[in-house]
Amino acid sequence: MTETNGKQAASSTQSKPVKPTYLHREEWPFQEVMDDAYERELEIIQVFTVYVEPKQTNDILKLAQKKLPPLEGLDHCKRIRRQPKPGNDKEYILEVILCKKDRIDQEQLEKIFSDNNIIPIQFNIIPLSKHAPLNTKQYEAWKHLWPLNYREDTRLDPKFTKEDIMTVHEHIQHLFNTAEGSVKCRIVHPVTNKVLSEESDHRSRHPLHHAVINCINSIAALEFEANGKRGRLKRMSNEMTGNEDDSTEEATTSPAKPTAPTAYLCTGYDVYLTHEPCAMCAMALLHSRVARVFYSIPSKTGAFGTNYKIHSHHSLNHHFRVFKNVLYEDMQSYRLHPALIDQEL
Ligand SMILES: [Zn+2]
Repeated sequence: MTETNGKQAASSTQSKPVKPTYLHREEWPFQEVMDDAYERELEIIQVFTVYVEPKQTNDILKLAQKKLPPLEGLDHCKRIRRQPKPGNDKEYILEVILCKKDRIDQEQLEKIFSDNNIIPIQFNIIPLSKHAPLNTKQYEAWKHLWPLNYREDTRLDPKFTKEDIMTVHEHIQHLFNTAEGSVKCRIVHPVTNKVLSEESDHRSRHPLHHAVINCINSIAALEFEANGKRGRLKRMSNEMTGNEDDSTEEATTSPAKPTAPTAYLCTGYDVYLTHEPCAMCAMALLHSRVARVFYSIPSKTGAFGTNYKIHSHHSLNHHFRVFKNVLYEDMQSYRLHPALIDQEL
């Protein structure tokens, strides 16, 4: 290859960075533990609708806006649908949602219409989906009741390439290889993939020394060691983006930038676990602000899917991603030490 070609090749590589190929959610070899709203079945709410001639539609929408209780929480439903005219399939009429059934009775409704000199074809009471669909599965299952507004949006979905998944598998595999009947936990820096702490369950020595708590304690000890007697956290939260610019000595001492650390103890870190953690451990992970948790085997007392979904609880101020059943097929024959069976893991 000539020098010129080499330069061209280099510049074309620079201008077109290779886009990573992310796998679709269905292709992941594990599942995300999501808020119950993503898994809920159809719940219905009754509403009044009215059949109208197309030319009456505007008057009826205006009347509904001025005189009827507002349609709160039903933005996911289209306001109007087209229906074949009773007894005449070739023509159509429109059906318009008026208001929720529990907000008004039919007599009042009919009076409002007659007082305003609007005579619709027919009032109806019909069921609608109470909640907006959050995924295609819900949309497909619920749309038969009434047309819904829905567009799949995967922008906020977690992203995994095949290599990312191999990395996740390597961490979990290592934990099982070295666990020896214990529960094991590992905390990893997601940008460098450096293992920051790895601990087993030591509750035989102390009832609170679960693997997760031991791991978080190790991180705290590392911070203490790194930052001297003050023991203060020095890590900046933007470190987790892989952009080191703001964490240089110059940047942290610049008066134009905040010098106080903004990270919590485990801000942005990934956590790998052989088993689903208990509520105490789940809360400890939440308080230390981890970014993602991967575990293999669900636990009877688990708080990331089995009994609670602490990571997505609406009343808590930090939410993070949890993935379960990592290498589950391979590891389901794993036997816990008898002392740990039926304990809160
Ligand atoms: Zn625990």
